[in-house]
Amino acid sequence: MLVIVFEFFSWAVVAAILGGWLAGLVGALVFAFGAATAHICLLAWRSNRLLNWLCRTGLNNPLKWSGVWLEIGQRIQRLLLQREKATEDLEQRLKDFLQAIQASPNGVILLDSEARIEWCNDTGAVHLGLDIQRDYLQHIVHLVRDPVFSKYYAQDTHTAEAVIDGRAATLSKNIKLSVQLHAYGEGRQLLLTRDITTMAQADAMRRDFVANVSHEIRTPLTVMSGFVETMQAIPLEEDERQRYLQMMAVQAERMQSLVADLLTLSQLEGGMPPRVQDKISLPELMGQVQSDAMALSAVLSGQDSEQLSPVHVFKFDPIENWSMMGARSEILSAVSNLVSNAVRYTPAGGRICARWYCEADDLCFSVSDSGPGIAAEHLPRLSERFYRVDRSRSRETGGTGLGLAITKHVAQRHGGELRIESQVGNGSTFSLVFPISRLLLTQ
Ligand code: ADP
Repeated sequence: MLVIVFEFFSWAVVAAILGGWLAGLVGALVFAFGAATAHICLLAWRSNRLLNWLCRTGLNNPLKWSGVWLEIGQRIQRLLLQREKATEDLEQRLKDFLQAIQASPNGVILLDSEARIEWCNDTGAVHLGLDIQRDYLQHIVHLVRDPVFSKYYAQDTHTAEAVIDGRAATLSKNIKLSVQLHAYGEGRQLLLTRDITTMAQADAMRRDFVANVSHEIRTPLTVMSGFVETMQAIPLEEDERQRYLQMMAVQAERMQSLVADLLTLSQLEGGMPPRVQDKISLPELMGQVQSDAMALSAVLSGQDSEQLSPVHVFKFDPIENWSMMGARSEILSAVSNLVSNAVRYTPAGGRICARWYCEADDLCFSVSDSGPGIAAEHLPRLSERFYRVDRSRSRETGGTGLGLAITKHVAQRHGGELRIESQVGNGSTFSLVFPISRLLLTQ
């Protein structure tokens, strides 16, 4: 700046001296004024050139001037380049920040001071059914119509979360969202949404499970305590006393089987493959299963213990030299569950066929019965814990409602699955399907 002022005065003084020498005082004034005007014009021209360079040629072109104008140009250029870099950095950081919020598994919705939507990530849009193009600057309460949300929004403070139905919820698909408002900036609000459907389902399952177990245990307990009270209150004949004790023993056995099945199930749940890998001889395993099934058939028919004989027709296909790799106790319990179910649910005189076979890449075990069959609507739920089609038949025959749940877990832990085919009136076929790699053919 000093250089320009110095230059201006130098021009004026030199011109004044020249004017004074040529034409006296008037000449000095006229020359000084002319020189000052010329200098101002020169300044205007140079400024204009600088402006043009800044606007048109771009900051990256080198300046071809010299002296103070080069200095000015270079400083402006440096400042502008720094500003441009800072803006780019800011934009990049904003982009990274928005990408991070986009990647969040939770929904994030930014609301302005009047609770109008300014921005939301994709998850938030899906959770609340928003379209940011369409719903930009729309009031959140006009779009989230759940009355629970309206009530929550109207509260003075939002220290706790509220649970609302997700936008995609239907009668068959229940989606639960946890939502919470957080104040920030000048009257702005951040709305966070979280899908808690799985947690809510797990919670409901846990509640159902506790209720089911309590119910299953309460029934035999009530029966037993009834007998105990009677025996305490009334003097009984010896044979009646024995009958009561026998009935109490049945109830105690029922509770024992329930607890045993619950323990088995809790060990199997989690789906990890079993640690032990036995070489299970299938002919030997089936020999044991068949004799247990025949004994069960005889016991359930209510015959005298003297002359027990099975009341079902059994057809167990012979298998020679077949072994499979797996946990013997688990495979035995799965196969026994299926065979004993066939015995328990098939009326006396019915047929029960069991066989092992290979099909495509699978090693299969199946048991078919000529029992009453199961209606299609029950099939998908049969392996749920405590799900029963025929409740009274299950109880009468000592069922716990956990057999198929255990069987399904055993199959899954061995890389296989449980398949059920049945038609009312046409019997049922339950199959365990394992990968063929578990089969060993021994000499
Ligand atoms: P439970 O101890 O009650 O037998 P399961 O889990 O083994 O429990 O079986 C669940 C339900 O599936 C049974 O209560 C019964 O209603 C039905 N079920 C199982 N196997 C058969 C079968 N072979 N025939 C008809 N119904 C069956």
